[in-house]
Amino acid sequence: MLKLQDINKSYTTGDFTQQALIDVNLEFRKNEFVAILGPSGSGKTTLLNIIGGLDKYDSGDLIINNKSTKKFKTTEWDAYRNNSIGFIFQSYNLINHISILDNVEMGMTLSGVSASKRKAKALEVLEKVGLKEHAHKRPNQLSGGQMQRVAIARALANDPDIILADEPTGALDSNTSVQIMELIKEIAKDKLVIMVTHNADLAHTYANRIVEFKDGKLISDSNPINKGVNQKEKYNLKKTSMNFLTALKLSFNNIRTKKGRTLLTAFASSIGIIGIALILSLSNGFDIEIDKFERETLSSMPIMITEQAMEMTEDMINSMSENNKMEEYIKEEVIYPQKPVTEQMLHTNVINQDYIDYVEKIDSNLLAGISYTRATAINIITKINGVYKPLSLSITDLTSIPKKMNTKTNGVIEDNYDILLGKLPTEKDELLIILDSKNRISTKILEAFDIDITQEKISFNDLIGKELKLVFNDEYYKQMGSFFTLNTDYESQYNSDKALTLKVVGIARGKEDKKALTANASGLSYTEELVDYIISINKDSKIVEAQINANYNVLTGEQFGNTEEGTNTKDTLISFLGGNGIPMVISLYPVDFDSKEKVINYLDKYNDGKELEDQILYTDLGDIISSLSGSIMDAITIVLIAFSAISLIVSSIMIGIITYISVLERTKEIGVLRALGARKKDITRVFNAETFIIGLCSGLIGIFIGWLLTFPANVIIESLTELPNVAKLNPLHAIILIIISMALTMIGGFIPAKMAAKKDPVEALRTE
Ligand code: ADP
Ligand code: MG
Repeated sequence: MLKLQDINKSYTTGDFTQQALIDVNLEFRKNEFVAILGPSGSGKTTLLNIIGGLDKYDSGDLIINNKSTKKFKTTEWDAYRNNSIGFIFQSYNLINHISILDNVEMGMTLSGVSASKRKAKALEVLEKVGLKEHAHKRPNQLSGGQMQRVAIARALANDPDIILADEPTGALDSNTSVQIMELIKEIAKDKLVIMVTHNADLAHTYANRIVEFKDGKLISDSNPINKGVNQKEKYNLKKTSMNFLTALKLSFNNIRTKKGRTLLTAFASSIGIIGIALILSLSNGFDIEIDKFERETLSSMPIMITEQAMEMTEDMINSMSENNKMEEYIKEEVIYPQKPVTEQMLHTNVINQDYIDYVEKIDSNLLAGISYTRATAINIITKINGVYKPLSLSITDLTSIPKKMNTKTNGVIEDNYDILLGKLPTEKDELLIILDSKNRISTKILEAFDIDITQEKISFNDLIGKELKLVFNDEYYKQMGSFFTLNTDYESQYNSDKALTLKVVGIARGKEDKKALTANASGLSYTEELVDYIISINKDSKIVEAQINANYNVLTGEQFGNTEEGTNTKDTLISFLGGNGIPMVISLYPVDFDSKEKVINYLDKYNDGKELEDQILYTDLGDIISSLSGSIMDAITIVLIAFSAISLIVSSIMIGIITYISVLERTKEIGVLRALGARKKDITRVFNAETFIIGLCSGLIGIFIGWLLTFPANVIIESLTELPNVAKLNPLHAIILIIISMALTMIGGFIPAKMAAKKDPVEALRTE
C-alpha cells in the first residue's frame, strides 16, 4: 500500500550538503509492524517524515495506494497527513495549554468531525490506552508514559491506515517502554505501523519486520515484499480545514496560560482607544451642547438689519484669505498699500418703506416676533417727589417688546422671559419692567416711578401699577417764531387730558436656560403699538411740519447745508421728532432653528438681481457665534484624535511584536498542528485568532476605561463650565472603536501570523 521508489533527500546548511537518504527503495504491506533500526544520523527520522508527508523528498517517488505523490498539492499533503497518518513522537509533542481530550480530538477537529462524534471517538481511544479518566487533565499533569499514551490515542483517533512512531520509548524507562510497546503491537494488528528505534531488543521482540539503515542507505530488510505483487486500493482523501472557532478556542486556551501578559498587552494597546473614546465622548457632548445652545439660544438671537452692515461678499473672503497668504516679517524694504478695513467691509443698507413692506409680508409662522428700533423720541414726563420733569433714560434702559407675529407660537418675550408678577403688556399704554438675573434694575428707572431708591430692597408690588405720562409734540414743544423750544411747564403737560398715561402691568426676568441672552438685560419695555401710535400723532405735529420745510434745525437753528450729510442729519431729526416710522434697525426673531433658515432665504430673495448698493444685508449673530464655536471644537478634536491615533499605531506595532513572540513560543504547537494535517491557512488563523482576542480585549478595556473616565471628566467640566454631563460616549463610536482596535491589532499580528504559517513543520517539531 505504501512504496518508496529511489527516494533521495539531502539537507544543505551553508555550503555543506548532507545526504540524509540515498536511493531508498522500500515497500510496506497494509498491515505489518515494521521496526527501523540504525545508528543516530542514519536518516530514520527523515524517512518517517517523508513517509508522513511532513517533509518532501528531493527525487524519486512515494506511492500511496498506487498513486504517485509527485504532483501532490499542499492541500493533498495536508489531507494525507490528517486522514492517513498518525504520528507518535519521542517527545510526545502534546499541546500543553489544552486538555488531553482536546489534544486527542485535534486531528478530527481539523477534518471537520462533529463535536459529539469527536468526543465519543476520543474517549473511545483514550479508553483503549487506559486514560479515559484523565481526559480533562492537562498534559503536564501526566507522567511520561501517560503522555505517550495520549500521543498514541491522538495518532489513533482519526483512524489512520499508517502509524509512524519515532523512537516512542526513547524517553521512557524500560518498564513503561514495555507497556507502550505492547500498546503499539496491539494497534499494529490492523494497521501499518512503522516504528523507528535504536533499541534492537525491543525491535526484535515486537516487530514482525526489521529494516536497517546506515548513512542514509537501506542495508537490510528482514521481510521484503516480492516484486509484482500489487494490492489494489482505492485512494480517497478528505480535505482538512480548521474553522475559526477552533482557532479561537486554541488561542483562547493558550492566552489563558499567560493571562497577566495578555492583560497588560491589551491594556497597553488600549491606551490609544481610551484617548480617542474620551475625546470623542467629549466632542460628542460638546457638539450636543453647542447644538442645544444653537437651537435654544442662538436661534432666538435675532437676525438684524441695521443701517450699516458687514459685507461678507465673496471678494471680501478672497481678499481675507489673500491677506493670510501674505508673507510676514519680510526683509525687502517695500510697502504694500492697504485699504482701510471699514471701507472694505461696511455696507450701507437703505431701509425704506418698500423693504419694510417686504419684510412684513414674510410667513408670520416663521417668526416669534419682529421689532423695529426707531429714532423716534418718546416724550415722557415724570412726577418725582411732587416735582414734574422730563424723563431722561438711555436707549438701553428703554426697549420695545418685539411684536408678536402669530398666535400659534410663543412670542419672543414668552420664549425668553418669565413673568414674575402681573402680565405681558398688550395695549399701547402698558409697560413691562424687566429685571436682570440678579433681580436688579437701574435706579434711574426706579426714580422715574417715584420710588425711594435709598431702600435696600423694593417689593414687586411697589412697582406694579406705577404711572408715567406720555406727551405729544404739540404740547412738549413750544413754537417761538420759526423756532421751537421745550415747553417747561411740565406740570400742565402731565395733567393735560391730551397726555397718555402709561402704566406698569408686569415684571419679567430672563429665563435661566436663556442666560446667555438675557442675564444682563434689564430695563423698561413698551409695546410696538405705542411707537406706532406716537408716530401717527406726531407726524402731523407743528414741529415736524416746520422741520420738513426748513433747511435748518428748528430746535437749535443750525444750518444743514445742501450736502448729503446735511440731508441725512435733517432726516434723522425728522425721524427723532416722529415724522416718519422708518426704523434704524429691524430685528427678526425666528421661531426655531429651521424657520431661521427659511427667514434667511426669504431675506436673500430680496437681494436677487439687485446691484450691491441696493441690496440689504443682514447680520446673523447666532450664525457667527455658532460657526466659530463649532469650528474651534472640530479643530481641537482633530488635533487630539491625531495624537491618540499615534498611540494606536504604536500599540499595533506592539501587538505585532507580542504576536511574534507568541509565534516563537508556539513553534512546537505549529509543528504538531501541521503534523496533524493543519494547513498553512489554519496556522495563520490560529494566530489571527490570538490577535483577534487581544484586539477585542484591548478594545473592550479601552472603551470601558474611556467610559469610566467620562465621569471624572464630567465633574471637572461641570465645575468649569456649569454644563452637566457633557462627556457622553456614543455607543456607535464605542462599537466602531472596538472594531478599529481589532482591525489594527490584526494588522499588527498579520506578518507574524504569516511567518508562523511559513514555518517548516519538521523544523518546528525539532524546536524545544
Ligand atoms: P536519525 O533520525 O537516523 O538520527 P535523521 O534523519 O534525523 O537521522 O538525520 C539524517 C541526517 O540528516 C543527519 O546527518 C542529520 O544531521 C541530517 N539532517 C536531518 N535533518 C536536517 C535538517 N533539517 N537540516 C540539516 N541536516 C539535517
Ligand atoms: Mg531521529
